[in-house]
Amino acid sequence: MPGPVLVPVLGDQLTRDLASLRGRTKKDTVILMMEVADETTYVKHHKTKIVLILSAMRHFAAELRKAGWTVDYIALEDDGNSGSFTSEISRAVDRHGASEVRVVEPGEWRVLKALEGLKGPLPVPLEILPDDRFVCSLNEFYTWAQSRDTLRMENFYREMRRKTGLLMDGDEPEGGQWNYDHDNRASPDKDMDPPPAPKFAPDDVTCEVIGMVERRFADHFGSLDKFCWPVTSDQAEAALDAFITQRLPDFGTYQDAMVHGSDDLFHSLLSTSINLGILDPVECCRRAEQAFRDGKAPINAVEGFIRQIIGWREYIRGMYWLEMPELAEANALNATRPLPEFFWTGETEMRCMADCVRSTRDNSHAHHIQRLMVLGNFALIAGVRPQEVEDWFLVVYADAYEWVELPNVAAMALWADKGRLASKPYAASGNYINKMSNYCGDCAYSVSKKTGEGACPFNPLYWDFLIRNRKVLESNHRIGRAYATWDRMKPDKQQAYLDSAKAVLDGLKPASGGWARD
Ligand SMILES: Cc1cc2nc3c(=O)[nH]c(=O)nc-3n(C[C@H](O)[C@H](O)[C@H](O)COP(=O)(O)OP(=O)(O)OC[C@H]3O[C@@H](n4cnc5c(N)ncnc54)[C@H](O)[C@@H]3O)c2cc1C
Ligand code: SF4
Repeated sequence: MPGPVLVPVLGDQLTRDLASLRGRTKKDTVILMMEVADETTYVKHHKTKIVLILSAMRHFAAELRKAGWTVDYIALEDDGNSGSFTSEISRAVDRHGASEVRVVEPGEWRVLKALEGLKGPLPVPLEILPDDRFVCSLNEFYTWAQSRDTLRMENFYREMRRKTGLLMDGDEPEGGQWNYDHDNRASPDKDMDPPPAPKFAPDDVTCEVIGMVERRFADHFGSLDKFCWPVTSDQAEAALDAFITQRLPDFGTYQDAMVHGSDDLFHSLLSTSINLGILDPVECCRRAEQAFRDGKAPINAVEGFIRQIIGWREYIRGMYWLEMPELAEANALNATRPLPEFFWTGETEMRCMADCVRSTRDNSHAHHIQRLMVLGNFALIAGVRPQEVEDWFLVVYADAYEWVELPNVAAMALWADKGRLASKPYAASGNYINKMSNYCGDCAYSVSKKTGEGACPFNPLYWDFLIRNRKVLESNHRIGRAYATWDRMKPDKQQAYLDSAKAVLDGLKPASGGWARD
């Protein structure tokens, strides 16, 4: 009799209907789940991220066992754990006398290459299956990309709307428009009162992982004091319910707003669950659509939410696989500055930056505009080396896996791919942050002061960035006009901007090493 089929389930594949399990019977399948040192330490992930993934894996293994599956679970501290996926798969093939290995393609290029490299040495066949938990298969994305010169999210998104039928009225978009983004840019309102997102107190399983992580990864960034992420599909469903009924109606309007000390606002906080596989992205969209059809949420909120998931999330994933491995090395603007230390310590007088780093440290989360227009924007206009910024984002966020983090950081925030993804760099002065937040009022810097002592650092850095990169950016029709403004400025004003920027840049203390890849 042939041995069982070995089905490795990776840490972000915690989905009952995973392609590798579909159609398999419980009696001839062994599911292999592995906590391996390579993955916990190739960058020094935030403690919360490690707890989230390991706890969710342990809960998922328990659910599978309860449902009658055989699960071979290798815990991080088990004797003999060899520390890598490939060697653990080899060991498990021997241990179980497996006749075949079936695995769903991993979310990272690095891991895919390692698994492909196992095909020869392994004594049994290894099949790598497409990950069909996405709306758009990679082949479909490549075909879409091949047929056009510019790869803009908006065109792709319309195809995904048609494909899923989400928010469609026959062949036309519901409400007559594909995109309601212009209604989704309200500044924070003093009276807005976002209901808090549900918190899930750590159970025994999570507490055990917390203890191990505090002991074993004591020098990793971040705090575990507020750990409250969903770690099971039931909890993720509860988080989705709460979002749809309580926060979705205002999600659109305040999507880009930032408020000091208010970490969730009207955001869904579902990315950690969706990326782990414990929550189905399309189900999230269908629930949002139903709220619209029931008259419980307006179209700008629902369309905005659905666009983030079947638009941005799918497009980002397609771009990752299309652009790798070059994307990881991309540096179109030749940025070379080391990451400033305050990205870790939060010790800066810039109130916006300090708040974003605090939320990142406490929650392993910051919302989109904080990531893009405060943290990413600063790194962009200060000219920080993309690979350092990428590793920082990969380390600090609980939802960060390279397939989603890298295109967002390298291409969207840093324009390191020279505009393959974003038509212009998201560079902004303090004005933008002031308009979209309540950060500036109590900041030690003055947002209205453009240069000199006490001026908001984003102001001179914005112009310095444009001037440093004039050769590359001047012909960009979306940003090129700024150069006309610069050219109209008096020389002494121009010089004041450049001198102020130099003072800011000279004052940046580089972070000490050891946390990122070489
Ligand atoms: C520099 C930078 C780095 C980022 N790194 C990550 C990352 O490592 N992992 C990650 O999941 N998201 C990342 N994002 C996208 C986005 O910021 C997060 O998905 C979002 O903040 C998660 O919080 P939420 O679930 O409350 O999202 P919501 O604001 O409620 O949005 C709903 C959902 O849409 C999806 N989504 C929204 N925007 C994006 C996007 N740009 N790319 C992919 N999915 C998106 C997510 O699944 C999210 O849960 C990054 C964005 C930027 C600008
Ligand atoms: S003044 Fe500048 S540094 Fe201070 S909070 Fe506003 S944008 Fe940030």
